[in-house]
Amino acid sequence: MKFATKAIHAGVKPDESTGAIMTPIYQTSTYVQDGIGNHKGYAYSRTSNPTRHALEKNIAALENAKYGACFGSGLAAIDCVIKMLKPGDEVISTNDLYGGTYRLFKTIFEKYGIVFHFISMNDPSAVRSVVNEHTKLIWVETPTNPMMNIIDISAMSQIARSCGAWLGVDNTFATPYLQTPIELGADIVMHSATKYLGGHSDVVMGALVTSNEEIAAEMYRIQNSSGAITAPMDAFLVLRGIKTLHLRMQRHCENGERIARFLKGHERVDKVYWPGFEDHPNHEVAKQQMRGFGGMLSFSLKGNRIEDAYEIVKKVEIFALAESLGGVESLIGHPATMTHASIPKEEREKSGIVDSLIRLSVGIEDAEDLINDLEQALK
Ligand SMILES: *Cc1c(COP(=O)(O)O)cnc(C)c1O
Repeated sequence: MKFATKAIHAGVKPDESTGAIMTPIYQTSTYVQDGIGNHKGYAYSRTSNPTRHALEKNIAALENAKYGACFGSGLAAIDCVIKMLKPGDEVISTNDLYGGTYRLFKTIFEKYGIVFHFISMNDPSAVRSVVNEHTKLIWVETPTNPMMNIIDISAMSQIARSCGAWLGVDNTFATPYLQTPIELGADIVMHSATKYLGGHSDVVMGALVTSNEEIAAEMYRIQNSSGAITAPMDAFLVLRGIKTLHLRMQRHCENGERIARFLKGHERVDKVYWPGFEDHPNHEVAKQQMRGFGGMLSFSLKGNRIEDAYEIVKKVEIFALAESLGGVESLIGHPATMTHASIPKEEREKSGIVDSLIRLSVGIEDAEDLINDLEQALK
């Protein structure tokens, strides 16, 4: 089955008892058993719930993976991955990781004896130099936030294979519509379904998928044992959101490209970070591993004044000033004071997050309206 058909049908079949075409919201904690241990596949909703189960199968199918599991948030999904490790194990990750992931690694798991290395992954040889016999996981995010760096998933998978580690990819920004890391050698793919999968800014949820049986067994054991599950209502909303994922992503890509090109030609704009530009440092890798360049981009202003950035995020009328991304509506953010405020200025600027940097999550409104909105704000 092709992507659009899977988005609508995978994991979903008409309800057997009523014929309802939409997966019902099974708002139940438990299930009646005919006799001890004799049930219809569901015994308790922490362990398994039919609405959640349909969504888990759907997301796994979209990622071309065998197994899926959904969690109460993207971070709860990553929490599950790190709980597969033990004290002394080492993780290699990117230095421009999503802030919440960095905080989870540093402030929660470091004290349980897991060792984390944060390095630039633009050059695979830098990763090879950190690998040792304790390396158990390489954790990649691509494109990265907010600099839109692209990491070569196949190259990372070769490094992981060579040292017997797993490769995990946070595929939140690209979505399976644009990038399927399992096919590029990843062992685990993670989503903040809060973003594009849900797509309507009305749910917080996370997901993991894998085709590796050993990882799947651990994933379900931890999901059930730690209990960071998602609710049936939220599973229903994300199932519904995914039915239009391909259409939304198409428009996100089209609008993203038009806005990137508009900004690049604007006299007040200094740099535009969008992997679709030929002069993006990893454009070739992006072209190879992605089927489009998405709706996320960042830009900086000439003169690099923070007041100018403040004025623009205030002046926009359609773009809403907010955290998060991936919804149908366009959002604007200022990384230096919002998502990346906890990183010291010097560190921040080294990775390109200057005072005038503005991040856009381009929605699926009319592109002309969005461009006019930016135009008037930049005046
Ligand atoms: C939002 C986000 C997360 C965290 O997901 P939550 O659903 O907010 O817990 C992780 N990674 C990326 C890239 C994100 O954008």
